[in-house]
Amino acid sequence: MIDTDAWSARYRAEGVNVSGQKLLITNFHGTDQEPDLSEPANCGGFGRIRHFKRTGDAAWPPNPLPIDPAARALGRPAADVMRAQVFQNAICNWRCWYCFVPFDLLAASRTHSVWHSAASLLDLYQAEPDPAPIVDLTGGQPDLAPEWVPWTMRELERRGLRDSVYLWSDDNLSNDYYWRYLSEEDQAYVAAYPTYGRVGCFKGFDARSFAFNTKADPDLFDQQFRLFDRHLRSGVDCFAYATFTTPTADGMTDGIRAFVDRLQTLDEDLPLRTVPLKITIFNPVGPRMREEQIAALEYQQRAVERWARELDERFTPNKRAKNIAELKIGARR
Ligand code: SF4
Repeated sequence: MIDTDAWSARYRAEGVNVSGQKLLITNFHGTDQEPDLSEPANCGGFGRIRHFKRTGDAAWPPNPLPIDPAARALGRPAADVMRAQVFQNAICNWRCWYCFVPFDLLAASRTHSVWHSAASLLDLYQAEPDPAPIVDLTGGQPDLAPEWVPWTMRELERRGLRDSVYLWSDDNLSNDYYWRYLSEEDQAYVAAYPTYGRVGCFKGFDARSFAFNTKADPDLFDQQFRLFDRHLRSGVDCFAYATFTTPTADGMTDGIRAFVDRLQTLDEDLPLRTVPLKITIFNPVGPRMREEQIAALEYQQRAVERWARELDERFTPNKRAKNIAELKIGARR
């Protein structure tokens, strides 16, 4: 089992240079991730373009993230596909079996990463022929370097890009570094920044599926809710993902119901800001697959059907049809 606190501290030390305002960013050239990219890496190999798509699988709920929040914040028309410029930090404190990132790209590997600042990444971004409207700070686990978000915000503002570029970052809800390492001033700045959205990922619907997915202590499943709650109360525009892969279907109905109950203890409407992510198999995942993982791919379909029923029972069709970006939750109510 992963010692999350120890791994977090170690990778922060190896992957973040606070005084130099730099962090290790993956270069995709020559990595096992490169064959999975739908188009060649850009930004000198340090970036990739992701086409976020609302729909893709008729048997799975649509995914409006981050399309709808970005369109709303930037005053753009509704869309079903949006391009994002992705930068990936080279550290993560967990090892989800389904992660599409090869594990060596989560371990501060200097073979495939280089120190970059927010400014040097945005220089690469702006040098692209048709920069995407979304900049996506992902990982890895971006929140091992929570400074990355305000560094990027300030740099976007300095370049006059605040209102034309939507900033999106994700978080595996594994640590309190956001409060430990960001000043109150920075936290307030992030919360007030108008073109930013943050997504926290619940990695399972109960402690058993969480530990199966992440290799972390099952007790940290509860912590995911506590951390999400703190972000919600901070005033940041928060969204959630959930993955439903599980090693067994036993207790699934009760487990999904309890999961939705717990989301609603944070905010009654949080389930409507939560998007289940379907796990599919990318190049680096194949060698990690065993019988349990193969079964988990099937169980996630049953789980998402249960999830949809729970939402049908708890929310009116009108409410369910609301734009995810317009639902006010947490301190933004
Ligand atoms: S938390 Fe995210 S980046 Fe880290 S191993 Fe899991 S899926 Fe990969």
